[in-house]
Amino acid sequence: MFQRSFIFSPILSRVVFGRGALSNLLAEFSQLGVGRALVVCTPEQVDLARAIAGKLGSGCSGVFPKAAMHVPIEVAREARLLAASLGADCIVAVGGGSTIGLGKAIALESSIPILAIPTTYAGSEMTPIYGITEGGAKKTGNDIRVLPRTVIYDPELTLSLPVRMSATSGMNAIAHCVEALYAANANPVTSMIAEEGIRYLARGLPRVVQNSTDIDAREECLYGAWLAGTVLGTTSVALHHKLCHTLGGMLNLPHAETHTIVLPHVAAYNAWAAPDAMASICRALGAEDAAQGLFDLAAQLGIPQSLRELGVNQFDLDRVTDAALTKPYPNPRPLNREAIRALLENAYWGHRPELV
Ligand code: NAD
Repeated sequence: MFQRSFIFSPILSRVVFGRGALSNLLAEFSQLGVGRALVVCTPEQVDLARAIAGKLGSGCSGVFPKAAMHVPIEVAREARLLAASLGADCIVAVGGGSTIGLGKAIALESSIPILAIPTTYAGSEMTPIYGITEGGAKKTGNDIRVLPRTVIYDPELTLSLPVRMSATSGMNAIAHCVEALYAANANPVTSMIAEEGIRYLARGLPRVVQNSTDIDAREECLYGAWLAGTVLGTTSVALHHKLCHTLGGMLNLPHAETHTIVLPHVAAYNAWAAPDAMASICRALGAEDAAQGLFDLAAQLGIPQSLRELGVNQFDLDRVTDAALTKPYPNPRPLNREAIRALLENAYWGHRPELV
């Protein structure tokens, strides 16, 4: 059904997309009007970061290779101090959501621009959302200062992303699109982008799993990831993201895997309350049922489909359910404790999603 009344407030980054897009680095750097970059990355991606620092030449003031999952405050503080002592006027963040998250933590205090070069499909580069972990708790916020000003998407940089991480990171991006479709502040434009994001990711991911060096498939996935990040940045998230944040935070679970496992079950939970969103997902997947289609896609990708496989203890599911119900995100179907507990039980065993 066409939604005739809405508010759309796009937030825009400059996007340079395509094979070999990294060759535009220097031009994009000068377009930003900056001259002293701090390049940030994880320890695993230090070679790529050093190569990028080399391309920047005298425009690079240093490399900080200590980005870590969920942006620990100690790492953020060290990076902020280094950026200040080097007189950095720009952050070049090369990597996945963890690295871009670290860039955001620096920008939050210093207001210096971020040039992001994403190498996964998580989508953080397109959002003004940040998260910093202190004392075991991840605090998140929304601040336009942390939105990367320029994003270089080069599919060649994703060729090295291991197959399992590619698949789960891609399902994480699909989850952004699914929740954007039934978001409280969705509009026809975001819904169009979200459906297209699912279409490209669902088309590309199985081919990446078959052949991780298939650059066409990588390109399609990265395009889908851009679309997914775009809608994540402009719409609100719902029950799925709340459950994943709760599971991840309380049980220290891997981010993308948790998204992959929970998504089909939340789609089943919300199915009758969000029929238009489900129709979009079906069109994008070429499936008859959205929840089953998402479950089948994950099965085809050969990634974990049960929380049990992640080492979750079944006895924790009650307290996860209770925590997920506190400060809930807006969701199309009202939250029902018993049904959400049943949803988690299905996700725990890796059963097919069902109406709970
Ligand atoms: P990640 O950034 O934690 O990366 C996982 C690992 O993969 C790291 O060791 C990294 O170095 C490595 N890696 C990344 N790209 C690679 C490549 N091309 N080749 C080889 N290795 C590569 O994983 P992620 O899933 O991208 O990010 C997850 C984090 O991002 C979570 O903390 C999540 O909360 C956050 N996130 C934030 C937002 C937001 O809008 N703020 C959105 C999505 C995710």
